[in-house]
Amino acid sequence: MRIVVSIKQVPETTEVKIDQAANRVDTEGLTRIINPYDTYALEEAIRIKEASGATVAVITCGPEKADESLREALAMGADEAFLLSDPAFDGSDPVATAYIVARGIEKCGPYDLVIAGRQAMDGSSGQVGPSLAEELGVPTVSFVRKIEELKDDYIRVQRMTDDGYDVLEGPLPMLITVVKEINEPRLPSLKGLMKAKRVTIPVWSAVDIGVDPARVGPAGSPTKLSKVAPPPPRAGGEMLEGTPEEQVRKLVARLKAAKVL
Ligand SMILES: Cc1cc2nc3c(=O)[nH]c(=O)nc-3n(C[C@H](O)[C@H](O)[C@H](O)COP(=O)(O)OP(=O)(O)OC[C@H]3O[C@@H](n4cnc5c(N)ncnc54)[C@H](O)[C@@H]3O)c2cc1C
Repeated sequence: MRIVVSIKQVPETTEVKIDQAANRVDTEGLTRIINPYDTYALEEAIRIKEASGATVAVITCGPEKADESLREALAMGADEAFLLSDPAFDGSDPVATAYIVARGIEKCGPYDLVIAGRQAMDGSSGQVGPSLAEELGVPTVSFVRKIEELKDDYIRVQRMTDDGYDVLEGPLPMLITVVKEINEPRLPSLKGLMKAKRVTIPVWSAVDIGVDPARVGPAGSPTKLSKVAPPPPRAGGEMLEGTPEEQVRKLVARLKAAKVL
């Protein structure tokens, strides 16, 4: 069995700076990490490898420095890594990104299972996994919290829902996106990190993976960003004084005045 894990490198921060002149998020100078949801995807693939002898490939579309995250994935236990990087990919939205990653997955060889995270910590559209399945022409299950059974041509999983879970089964190859309830990711070992430093990671351009230039970058992205802006600062609250009864009376009066009641 061959498993491909699709990972994204993201900035390690929740304090996002906005470059309003360029209408984009400014990630300059931020430490970059593997998208946390993708570490669960990787861990699951590595556990399958340890249990049944599968091969695990990891792939990302990003700038050249995304190669650091691929090395971390190798240090965790992945066997192969592939970087899709080309200035032509800049400005790609999630639809175009999925198209690029799909062509990269196809170039890196046959696969039985593709695992992605449920969403990226920065873009958070949650679109790339399902769009990738569409591009690859394989079935998909999102929000997987457990793989119940996996055979050469069959998978049965639990999909997390708001009030429990569904059990779904289907043929391989398939793409699943995973939630953090699925496992506890390991940390890369020091020995693994040293070994991963020496690995040559193929870097593939648009020409290498044969993408249609009209389907990548701003021209190939159906999403148009009209404005990127920080959320407005929250207005200060007001403390209601008095006994609990007086506070409730004041609150009800305010809500009535605001026509909420
Ligand atoms: C109009 C527009 C222009 C943009 N321009 C740029 C730009 O110039 N540079 C830039 O960096 N971003 C750009 N973005 C953001 C970029 O499109 C998204 O970061 C990317 O498509 C992933 O979407 P997401 O973050 O919502 O991931 P999600 O859909 O939330 O991610 C879900 C899962 O998909 C997989 N995945 C996501 N992204 C990748 C990836 N790159 N490689 C492999 N697997 C992945 C991971 O498994 C992840 O857990 C742009 C977005 C828009 C809308």
